Amino acid sequence: MSGNTETIFSKIIRREIPADIVYEDDLALAFKDINPQAPVHILVIPKKPIPQLADAESQDHALLGHLLLTAKRVAEQAGLSNGYRLVINTGPDGGQTVDHLHLHILGGRQMKWPPG
Ligand code: AMP
Repeated sequence: MSGNTETIFSKIIRREIPADIVYEDDLALAFKDINPQAPVHILVIPKKPIPQLADAESQDHALLGHLLLTAKRVAEQAGLSNGYRLVINTGPDGGQTVDHLHLHILGGRQMKWPPG
């Protein structure tokens, strides 16, 4: 893992800044994106401060699986029975702006392809 692991998402995990939290367990947290790009836009993050997917290691394989299953569960909970999109922006070319691994759940409208 590289870089400074303290981000705004660390503060959300510690409840130092408010967020609309929709799911939490020992390993993960899900909350509504503050700048939604779809009718449903929820972020799923690990509590472990992995800066980006490129920093994940083989020892994180169970955690990464847990994040995907959490995203599935949160999407169901949000009523996205007609489908949704999961996005992981990674690094500068991926458009990542917060250096704490996060999965975007986007739903409630038809998604386009290719993404911008
Ligand atoms: P990314 O560009 O993939 O790094 O996504 C970061 C996301 O975090 C963006 O969609 C932001 O709108 C969202 N975001 C930033 N700050 C907050 C916050 N305090 N609460 C909720 N979402 C946030």
